[in-house]
Amino acid sequence: MRLAIVSDIHANLEALDAVLADIDARQVDDVVCLGDFVGYGASPNECVERLRPRISGAVIGNHDAAAVGRLSLGDFNSDAATAARWTEGSLSAESRAYLEGLPYTIGRGAALLVHASPLEPEAWHYVLSPTDAAEEFEAFVEPICFIGHSHFPGAFERAGEEMRYSRLSEVATQPGRRYIVNVPSVGQPRDSDPRAGYALWDDQRGIVQHVRLEYDVDGAMKRIRDAGLPPFLAERLRWGE
Ligand code: ZN
Repeated sequence: MRLAIVSDIHANLEALDAVLADIDARQVDDVVCLGDFVGYGASPNECVERLRPRISGAVIGNHDAAAVGRLSLGDFNSDAATAARWTEGSLSAESRAYLEGLPYTIGRGAALLVHASPLEPEAWHYVLSPTDAAEEFEAFVEPICFIGHSHFPGAFERAGEEMRYSRLSEVATQPGRRYIVNVPSVGQPRDSDPRAGYALWDDQRGIVQHVRLEYDVDGAMKRIRDAGLPPFLAERLRWGE
């Protein structure tokens, strides 16, 4: 199976269109979404509508939960909270019902898929260090778990008691070892690479690839400014921060 995994679109339609065009140009068997369809960007309904017919399943992200009133904005910084309130007011009844109905985890092949962390999917932990990952590996049994949330692509590999972390764009998985793979963000990269991203997993060959793509950043920035959202949310797209 060749699976495309998109995550953290954050209502960035220009980035999503670039990613979907790239997926179209490859032979993939299935597409799934790891959540955060909305929040920060100016095209929440368009992103939900564009993605829904293209994916076989999805999990809920914290920004989706906030936009449908399933999560308090207490942990959000002021720009994120402003955007969440704007998104809540902008969502169509149909988009809202779709996001509300999303589960916290799904499975595909030998993989578990969750937005933030397998340990407590509803608590939105960040898995950024080997110490964070050690605890998370105890919380699932599958050989591989795909996560989003941090917008910082990388992979933790567990071989017995040993833990390795890699930021390479390709991960070759080894039999008998286990993995937590943080996939790139489609619409709000934060690893200083402003390109849109997603992951491709070939479970026969045991290869995970982080794909990055140029897209119309200026168009996405303009839409955010025109919507009256905080200007920093447009600016950060230029730098990928
Ligand atoms: Zn996110």
